[in-house]
Amino acid sequence: MKKQKLVLVGNGMAGVRTLEELLKRAPERYDISVFGAEPHPNYNRILLSPVLAGEKSIGDIIINSDAWYAQHGITLYKNTRVVAIDRQNHGIHTLDSHIEHYDHLLLATGSTPFILPLPGKDLAGVIGFRDIRDVEQMMEASAKYRHAVVIGGGLLGLEAANGLRKRGMEVTVVHVLDSLMERQLDKPAASLLKQALEENGLNFLMEAETEALLGDDRVQAVRFRDGLEIPADLVVMAVGIRPNIELARAAGLHCERGVIVSDTLQTSDPHIHAVGECVQHRGNLFGLVAPLFDQAKVCAHHLAGVSDSRYEGTLTSTRLKVSGIDLFSAGEFQGGPGHEELLFQDHSRGVYKKLVVRDNRIQGTVLYGDTGDGPWYFQLMREASDISGFRDSVLFGPVHEGSGGRSGQSVMDREDNAEICGCNGVCKKTIVDTITQRKLLTLEDVRAHTKASASCGSCTGLVEQILAATVGSDITPPREKPLCKCTGHSHDAVRTAIREQSLQSLSAVFTALEWQTPDGCHVCRPAINYYLLCAWPESYLDDAQSRFVNERIHANIQ
Ligand SMILES: Cc1cc2nc3c(=O)[nH]c(=O)nc-3n(C[C@H](O)[C@H](O)[C@H](O)COP(=O)(O)OP(=O)(O)OC[C@H]3O[C@@H](n4cnc5c(N)ncnc54)[C@H](O)[C@@H]3O)c2cc1C
Repeated sequence: MKKQKLVLVGNGMAGVRTLEELLKRAPERYDISVFGAEPHPNYNRILLSPVLAGEKSIGDIIINSDAWYAQHGITLYKNTRVVAIDRQNHGIHTLDSHIEHYDHLLLATGSTPFILPLPGKDLAGVIGFRDIRDVEQMMEASAKYRHAVVIGGGLLGLEAANGLRKRGMEVTVVHVLDSLMERQLDKPAASLLKQALEENGLNFLMEAETEALLGDDRVQAVRFRDGLEIPADLVVMAVGIRPNIELARAAGLHCERGVIVSDTLQTSDPHIHAVGECVQHRGNLFGLVAPLFDQAKVCAHHLAGVSDSRYEGTLTSTRLKVSGIDLFSAGEFQGGPGHEELLFQDHSRGVYKKLVVRDNRIQGTVLYGDTGDGPWYFQLMREASDISGFRDSVLFGPVHEGSGGRSGQSVMDREDNAEICGCNGVCKKTIVDTITQRKLLTLEDVRAHTKASASCGSCTGLVEQILAATVGSDITPPREKPLCKCTGHSHDAVRTAIREQSLQSLSAVFTALEWQTPDGCHVCRPAINYYLLCAWPESYLDDAQSRFVNERIHANIQ
């Protein structure tokens, strides 16, 4: 049977996850082309914050390398913006005048940062925080300049500010309200957070209304409505996102704030589906990956021709990715009429826990300082469990019969269906079963087979605990699988070393990483050759021998 043509516009987290799910179900159904405006393969946008903070490299956050697309026969057009959809003739047009026909089109164009319409917003040094280019600009600025101003005291603004501070800049966070992360935190938790961030060296201007960004070519200062001016060599605007719907709107698809989709993720055109932050579903917009991954599953089912699943919405929880700060928030955390609040506060330990309860069911939670029970509360909330039987002790975590203690001490005490990875919706039993059935030994393998801890990474410790407990306490699992028998370094570690240590040849890699064989083998030589080509496309001279091996044995890697 002739394959149908599927075109994906938007090489980001939701679109490519949909392809991954589709390949699991119907690998042969489509001939797939992917168009992405960014010059990179698919990467984990969530982890831009740790990259900015110097805790990860760009290489570490690539989810699917170029080789993955080739391996699955997917044609990837990087750095290629789609500018129009011709619905009548079933084609898309790119900026460089390429036309691609489709039988099915998948839109996953994400969001764009909202830039406040202030005088001076177009000056050099004024940016959003959305992609690798933004992070590169922040890293360049931090090497040259001193003063950064981040406008927006929400999750993204605080992660940007933390990263810039860690790179040595003097950072001021400007927030229009009197309390940080007001969409996730109540005032006591926000005040603990602010105090901790101040101790980390951040400055805050609260209830401050920005009036103008000043400078000639590059931004030099920020002026506020009360006349105050502060120096700024870099201004990061983190005041919200807007679904990227221009393409869909221009093509006449039904759009409101986002592209309107049904429960099957279909747009107003039956040949076009949409997933991710660009969509509006039952009136809701999205800004976290958990719902997008749920959408991806349902959409993939329908593209695969299985039509019995529906997307009906996702409850989400939030954490802040600033090392040393533990914070968890979910649901209706503010309470209000008809709600009760269960509170625990230990100021000197910096611990605050609040559960909002209605009819003995948890409606929301805010945890600061001790977030170990966050996933349990989240599960009770999602399952609408009646807590009256243990309400007196619920703030201290679950007690397990026979264990003589409370959970939170070991993840293995948790129920089988306890959610471990919130981003990907993976429960404890799935992880344990996959480790056992597939005889997995490394965190990397567990991630590859279950996706647990593969997104924001905040559950990595729990997944490692499960791995250690399942494999056996005497085994300390290596974190990542070595590239081949010539080295203990993983693929990621080698790629990172090539870039960070500016290694330009096979022999330089062998020397710097203390290879255990003089000339490598048929596994590592072609892989390193490929990584060198990717890292130094203009200067690296392809290793003929590796190419030969690669073409014969690993034809897919190119
Ligand atoms: C710094 C940062 C930290 C985050 N932290 C978290 C977190 O901790 N937890 C969490 O759940 N979420 C987090 N998020 C949000 C999460 O990353 C997004 O929800 C997710 O990436 C959205 O996926 P998407 O596929 O809809 O959009 P994207 O991942 O943005 O992908 C859209 C892609 O489409 C491309 N595109 C757009 N228009 C076109 C066009 N016309 N032609 C070709 N290509 C096009 C874009 O260039 C982009 O690459 C964070 C986001 C950022 C920026």
